[in-house]
Amino acid sequence: MKRNIRKPIKGIRIKNANFAMILVSCILYILLISATIHASRQYHDVQKAMDTYIACGQCDTLLTSGSAYLTEQARLYVVTAKAQYMDQYFTEVHTTKRRETAVEELKAYYDGNEIYSILQSALEESNKLMVQEIYAMKLVAVAEGEEAGSLPEELKEIQLSEADMGLGQEGMRKKAQDMVFGSEYQGSKEEIAGHVSRFMDSIQEATSRRMGKSADNLEATMSRQRILVSILFIESIITFIMIILLIVKPLQVYVKCIREDKMMEITGSYEFKYLALTYNDIYEVNATNEAMLRYQAEHDPLTGIINRGAFDQLKQIFHAKSKSLGLLIIDVDKFKLVNDGYGHEMGDQILKRVAKLLEESFRATDYPARIGGDEFAVILTNVSENQKDIIEGKIAHINDCLLHPPKGMPRVTLSVGGAFSDDGFTDDLYRKADLALYDVKEHGRCGCRFYDEGHEYHKDDKKCEGC
Ligand code: GH3
Ligand code: MG
Repeated sequence: MKRNIRKPIKGIRIKNANFAMILVSCILYILLISATIHASRQYHDVQKAMDTYIACGQCDTLLTSGSAYLTEQARLYVVTAKAQYMDQYFTEVHTTKRRETAVEELKAYYDGNEIYSILQSALEESNKLMVQEIYAMKLVAVAEGEEAGSLPEELKEIQLSEADMGLGQEGMRKKAQDMVFGSEYQGSKEEIAGHVSRFMDSIQEATSRRMGKSADNLEATMSRQRILVSILFIESIITFIMIILLIVKPLQVYVKCIREDKMMEITGSYEFKYLALTYNDIYEVNATNEAMLRYQAEHDPLTGIINRGAFDQLKQIFHAKSKSLGLLIIDVDKFKLVNDGYGHEMGDQILKRVAKLLEESFRATDYPARIGGDEFAVILTNVSENQKDIIEGKIAHINDCLLHPPKGMPRVTLSVGGAFSDDGFTDDLYRKADLALYDVKEHGRCGCRFYDEGHEYHKDDKKCEGC
């Protein structure tokens, strides 16, 4: 059903709110995912810087320990002249190669970098020392009279100077010891240590710079994440509030209105307001139709007073209640003659006039009804036999009016039988009123009589239609 549009409906449309919320959520989630990816990358940067630093530290240890080992083995050989030290020296030089391994590994991190050149300088310096160590070892080997063929290739290649050859055994040993223990040698060792230390400082500085930058970026990204999560939280709260205000609450209100059979409150989103207004339109039409149908079902279409059906319902209602009430049964005298003499339409006019006079004469708490063709009834509430005279007076007034009709209308009279009850509308009440009416008809019509227990009625009770 299309609503009769009275005025534009104001309200948030669920469709639009939903679209806006989805859009905002999507944007926020995309930003959050991108911030998470950034954070993960920055974390990896920090980790990589850390790994590099650890790897460099290990290289430093490797290089320093390799260099120290060579010095140690060279010195031990020079002092003890035991071949095992020379073997261990050259095993380090050819096989273990700690220094070369360290430099090679660092190349992977710092190739082409200034830092790497520092380490290369250290290696070159160390290599220079090696030449010195090998020369010292050769001096000792010659002093010890080792056979040239049994010596390693590096020693074979070394040619002792003529001056050194002339030194004699002791002199050679002494010179060899000077070469690996002397201040010059020590100075070179310190220079190498200085290179390594500078290398480590540079690494430390570079690492802390890199880590600091990554950590700053990570912190900025995480604070962006925090803001986004907070906005998402607020957005969720707003969504929940909107669902409650625009959907849940109106639904509760509407269900309550339907249960209580009331018009709907105009609340919630545009869609719910539209529904409520449409429902209210239908509700109004139904209520009007229902009232009209009820009126039609309860009222006589000719006279407008309540009909036989409604009269029977009233009987039921007053049946159960032990109230004092009265009943009048009214019949138009010789009504057939009116119809025959003046026509059916005039008869209808008379019936309408009778109904109108009954309505005007009795109280609002009494119920005049048309219960048959020319037959009427009045249920009188809260009356007792004491009020007989008043009622008779009212009937007399009505008959007087009917005997003095407007111009063109025939004169008619009413016969009225009445009865009273102290126990509501009993089964006997109608019978008694009807007998009283019969009595009036029997005694010349046009009048009102009430049922009298002491009076003898001749009417066959079985003919009493309304009982
Ligand atoms: P009595 O004094 O014995 O009542 O005589 P009566 O002629 O009135 O007889 P009765 O009450 O039996 O007749 C009722 C008449 O009312 C019969 C019928 O033609 C007429 N009537 C019934 N309904 C209507 C109606 O709606 N309009 C009109 N004009 N006449 C009706
Ligand atoms: Mg009649």
